[in-house]
Amino acid sequence: MRALALLSGGLDSTLAIKIILDQGIEVEALNFKSVFCTCTPKTRSCSAAATAAQQLGVKLYALSSTSEFLEIVKKPKHGYGRNMNPCLDCRILMFRKAHERMKETGGSFLITGEVLGQRPMSQRLNAMRLIDEEAGVTGLVVRPLSAGVLEPSIPELKGWVDRNKLLSIEGRSRKPQIELAESFSINDYPCPAGGCRLTDPGFAARMKDLIEHEPELLLSDVKLLTVGRHFRISPTAKAVVGRNEEENEKLSTLRQDKDRRMEVVGLPGPTTIVRGQVSNEDLLLAAAITARYSKGVDLPQVTVAVWNGNAAEASELCVAPADTASLEATRVCRK
Ligand code: SF4
Repeated sequence: MRALALLSGGLDSTLAIKIILDQGIEVEALNFKSVFCTCTPKTRSCSAAATAAQQLGVKLYALSSTSEFLEIVKKPKHGYGRNMNPCLDCRILMFRKAHERMKETGGSFLITGEVLGQRPMSQRLNAMRLIDEEAGVTGLVVRPLSAGVLEPSIPELKGWVDRNKLLSIEGRSRKPQIELAESFSINDYPCPAGGCRLTDPGFAARMKDLIEHEPELLLSDVKLLTVGRHFRISPTAKAVVGRNEEENEKLSTLRQDKDRRMEVVGLPGPTTIVRGQVSNEDLLLAAAITARYSKGVDLPQVTVAVWNGNAAEASELCVAPADTASLEATRVCRK
């Protein structure tokens, strides 16, 4: 008997796999990666999933679902959660992909670490049923942590999995899982994460702004949302300003051929990337915002170098640092 488990690397999915392994069932783990993950990447999978798979002694398969995920984020059939997180559609996609992988590898059922009532959007009973149904996996998902409070799955009914050895955890408390981890001597696991980047209000505001202004959602634009302060300088252009040396370097690596790069001349200051179709006024505004975050903030005039695309030579703009009103009028943040 073989099963495929969704493994985020968090405690719940790790425990779920351990419970099934202890029944003598072979398990392969599947880790989903997307540009919205907050985990630390390790080769193709996230490092927490890689560590958990190693501890459990199971094979780990990593799958990147970013392109399909971008389509979902733009217009989720089942709507968003509190921010821009389309959890139901996202779980349907994951389960569908997991089902495909399960069939390819000769598996008989799926395992998840879901706990009834733990997450407000995707771990309610009705939501779980809907996800299973739309992903075409009804009856095939074993949820070892909450099985006792859920309808028996096919593997439980057929006796492939001993239902008596599954648990009946429900609700938001983490205590039962922490006690279980201790009993299994599982000590190395990450703190519970609140979800992917789309659940973060700041990131969600930038994502919303992008969807509103860019009909074609590109991965390069989404990656840019993970760095810096964002300013919508016109309906067709935005400026992204680094907040520290690390972000300045990251912005330089995320720069696309058509972007403008800005830096203040002769004074410490940020790197700014200007993306989109820009007028001269837009460039002056982006330069003024760049100057505002430089050491020249109190000077009447600051010179800002502007590199256009891959040009080696920069042009220069002389601007007064932006005032607070123009910063706040253009800053992309939660309304
Ligand atoms: S928090 Fe993000 S990754 Fe997790 S289910 Fe929701 S949308 Fe998907």
